[in-house]
Amino acid sequence: MMNSTATILIIDDETVVRNGCVRVLTRHGYAVYSAASGAEGLKLLDEQNFDLVITDIMMPGIDGLEVMRVIRQRWPHIATIVISGYSSVAKAVEAMKQGAADFLPKPFLPEHLLISVKKTLASRNFEQEVFSLRTKAENGLREILTEQSRIKAIIQCMEEGVVVTDRDGVVSLHNAAATRMIRFQQEPLIDKNLFSCMKDPAVQQQIERALAEGLSSAVDLPPGEASNRYLRSRCAPVMSGEDKNLLGTVTVFEDITSLKAMDRMKSEFVAMVSHELKAPLSTIQQMIYFLTDGSVGPINDSQSKILQRVQVRLDELLDLVKNLLELSRIESGAVVYHLEPIFLGPLATGCLAELSIAAQTKQIEMTFFEGETVPPVLGDKRNLDIVIKNLIGNAIKYTLPEGKVSVGLSSDGRNVILKVRDTGIGISEQEIPKIFDKFYRVKDEKMRWITGSGLGLSIIKTIVESHQGKIEVESSYGVGTQFRVILPCLQI
Ligand code: ADP
Repeated sequence: MMNSTATILIIDDETVVRNGCVRVLTRHGYAVYSAASGAEGLKLLDEQNFDLVITDIMMPGIDGLEVMRVIRQRWPHIATIVISGYSSVAKAVEAMKQGAADFLPKPFLPEHLLISVKKTLASRNFEQEVFSLRTKAENGLREILTEQSRIKAIIQCMEEGVVVTDRDGVVSLHNAAATRMIRFQQEPLIDKNLFSCMKDPAVQQQIERALAEGLSSAVDLPPGEASNRYLRSRCAPVMSGEDKNLLGTVTVFEDITSLKAMDRMKSEFVAMVSHELKAPLSTIQQMIYFLTDGSVGPINDSQSKILQRVQVRLDELLDLVKNLLELSRIESGAVVYHLEPIFLGPLATGCLAELSIAAQTKQIEMTFFEGETVPPVLGDKRNLDIVIKNLIGNAIKYTLPEGKVSVGLSSDGRNVILKVRDTGIGISEQEIPKIFDKFYRVKDEKMRWITGSGLGLSIIKTIVESHQGKIEVESSYGVGTQFRVILPCLQI
């Protein structure tokens, strides 16, 4: 508060002193009130707000010490200065002990009065500032503590296990569910390095990636050393501020045992149904073949057309059944079954030969290029054959007649790279992230007539990833698409 706006009350029974004070202080811009007795002074204090009270000590009736006592009790924010005569010095000392900011011995000069008032108001303002800052800091701290305990309570109530580490992988927080789900090798966990408490390599890798590269990841952990349940572990880096300072990691463990059991039941059911469908569908296919090739008697043109349509639909149905069987086989974990060194070149030429009739029917030109000395990969031949055949099959399927499909094989020394490029209808940017999802098919006017189950790419992705490889796609809508399969070379 500025001095010029400070409001001051002078209490003194000596008119000369009182009026003198009022005059000097008013001249210097203060709002000044006066009272001739302690009682009058307290009445004014009751009625309005003051910043400073200057009171005589020795007064008939309520004296200065009593006035100060009431002020301290009821208006502790008001500063006080006492005026004392020679005879009341002892009382003035007492007043100072009780919190008066200063005392003015009578008689005093106007300058003394002004210096004392300025000094007292300045220190009062300073004290008030400190008080309000301290209150703010205390409130802030209280809020943070409340917030912290609320977050801790929420984390403790969660059904999922939560483990929080700092930048060095040291556990700073975890909940009860985490210790219930996971058999940690050391407990209590707090302040221990998570890597020494949980030896699961997949989780270690997740945390290392989060700390080193700031990447989030999710992995499913089958029952094993760390837990007898099936867990899904999701790990994310914790960043703070605009410059994204890495503070540590948070990993959430979810018990997905029942989910996995249901998934297995569903896969078994699909496998069983598909298996049961395959045999009668193949028989029907054979019978139609006998009808169309005339071996059981002649058929007319219209009958032949109908049978051709039946044949097309049946082929689609058999394709779907084949894909469903493939998917359930892969989901059952039989992806990398017979591992052996495989040269992808001969595998690709075999697939191209198998699909040449489909390409010729659409007058699509297919080319194959293989770079020098492409090393083998360690893989499951049957599954890698599915990958290449499906990619080339799709390229033919999604390319208009007279287009081009080219297959290339090369190596950068560490990986073998298979490229399948077409001049087909392309995939728009927003569809690209979804095409690897199970049963996802792009809804496009141009390909309304192209049939499929939407399972091919999801099967391909699962196979490639279980060979420690990855699949990438680049596409330009209306121009063409290129799929790249990258598989690690077999190091001999
Ligand atoms: P399906 O071909 O049975 O529909 P996929 O899983 O093999 O299923 O493919 C998913 C979708 O991705 C397809 O429906 C199609 O829209 C798109 N797609 C796949 N390959 C290509 C390609 N070479 N060119 C254009 N679109 C493609």
